[in-house]
Parts: sequence; structure tokens; C-alpha cells
Amino acid sequence: MLHNKWLYAQKLIFILPELDRYLVLLYLLNTKPPQAMKITHIEHIGIAVKSLDEAIPFYENVFGLKCYNVEEVKEQKVKTAFFMVGQTKIELLESTDPEGPIGKFIEKKGEGVHHIAYAVDKIEDQLQTAEEKGVNLIDKSPRKGAEGLDIAFLHPKSTFGVLTELCENKNK
Ligand code: ZN
Repeated sequence: MLHNKWLYAQKLIFILPELDRYLVLLYLLNTKPPQAMKITHIEHIGIAVKSLDEAIPFYENVFGLKCYNVEEVKEQKVKTAFFMVGQTKIELLESTDPEGPIGKFIEKKGEGVHHIAYAVDKIEDQLQTAEEKGVNLIDKSPRKGAEGLDIAFLHPKSTFGVLTELCENKNK
């Protein structure tokens, strides 16, 4: 009996390295090399303004765009106004609190382009890919943004200075 076990163990020693090699090969055949993120289009461009009451008439009367929604996002301390331009939106952001992110942005840099938002599918997967590729995530997991979208921000320090938002419309 003991002799049989020993023989078995001896066989294992010779089998294992080959098995390992086989498993590695199997893994490689069944695993894709690391993929890049998948972005479908520019969902919106976020622009920080001091006053929606001043900016909305400008966008409507000068640019001829129609504001179709004004919404407050309390946790971000902003009021947002949306305009459709083709399949891309312009999101004007007015701060409701000087200590909020938009309030601080305007104090530091003045009014202007604040972030760019890319539409993606499976936002969790895109975030994971971004992190695997060394991008610094502001949101480790998606949260609810304006218009009921799932959103997450990437840190501008790892995206060449552009605050980048990913968003997914899970209601479509
Ligand atoms: Zn946005």
C-alpha cells in the first residue's frame, strides 16, 4: 500500500510540471490580452458658469440651442442646464455653494470648460480597465449623476489635465 502511494507520488512529480505547462497554455488560449476601454461617443461637455440665468439665454438666443432640462444635483452642490447638440449635450454647471466642486473650480480658474463626459457601456468594466491601466479614479464605483445616469470621474492628473467623466444610461 505504502509502496503504491510512493509510486503515485513519483509519477506526480513527473506529471506536474507538464500539467502546469498545459494549464498555462490553456489559460493563454482562453484569456484575451488586456483590452482598452470602449467609449461610444461624447455624452456631454460640462461647462462651469457663474449664473445659469445669464448663461441659458446666451446659449438659446446666440447659439440657438434649446435648454431642455434644468436639474439640481444636491450632493454635487450644482444646478445643471442641458442643451442637445446632435447626440452630444452641453451641460452648464452653476454652483449652489462656494465650497462645492464647481464653486472652487470657478474661484481657481474662472468660468470655462470643466469636464468632458464619454458615454460607455458596462461602466464598471470600463472603470476596472482604466484602473488596470494605471488611471487614478476619483470614483471607484459608479454613482448617480444628473438625468439618472451612472457616472464616475477619472482624475485629471492621469488624463493629461482633463477631468474625465464616464457615463452610462442604464435606462435606455
Ligand atoms: Zn457631467
